[in-house]
Amino acid sequence: MRNLTSISSVCDPLLHEVKCAWCDAVIVGARPKRLYCSIRCSRRAQGAKKRKNYFLLFERDFFRCVYCGKSSIEHGVSLALDHVIPRSKGGKDVAGNLTVSCHECNSHKCARILRPSVIRRLLWLIEQRNEQLGIGCDTPIEMQGGS
Ligand SMILES: [Zn+2]
Ligand SMILES: [Zn+2]
Repeated sequence: MRNLTSISSVCDPLLHEVKCAWCDAVIVGARPKRLYCSIRCSRRAQGAKKRKNYFLLFERDFFRCVYCGKSSIEHGVSLALDHVIPRSKGGKDVAGNLTVSCHECNSHKCARILRPSVIRRLLWLIEQRNEQLGIGCDTPIEMQGGS
């Protein structure tokens, strides 16, 4: 006599066998929307995505400080991502609020206050560049280190 329960579970259209998008483990009986086998894999994948976005912004800004125009390739300056609107004023770690800045401009900027007209121009420039590359301004970016 055939085992009816096992047949019905094999034919059950709600059961799917998909591979975890991060570690390739097979997820049995998952809902089709589920991409990862575990929360750990999901977190790792999100982290990798954010790290990728981090480097994407360097490409977007041509590896050049947005304030003084020096480049890490031509001038050998060290670059980092910088908040246009600082975190203390509610600025977020997103593609629309981050720009590439050299170490020198970054440390000087802390002392001087960016004028609102400059901030507006910067935000506009970033938005234009994001738009050209199809980067959403609210794309989360994983910040490396402080600030
Ligand atoms: Zn996994
Ligand atoms: Zn600079």
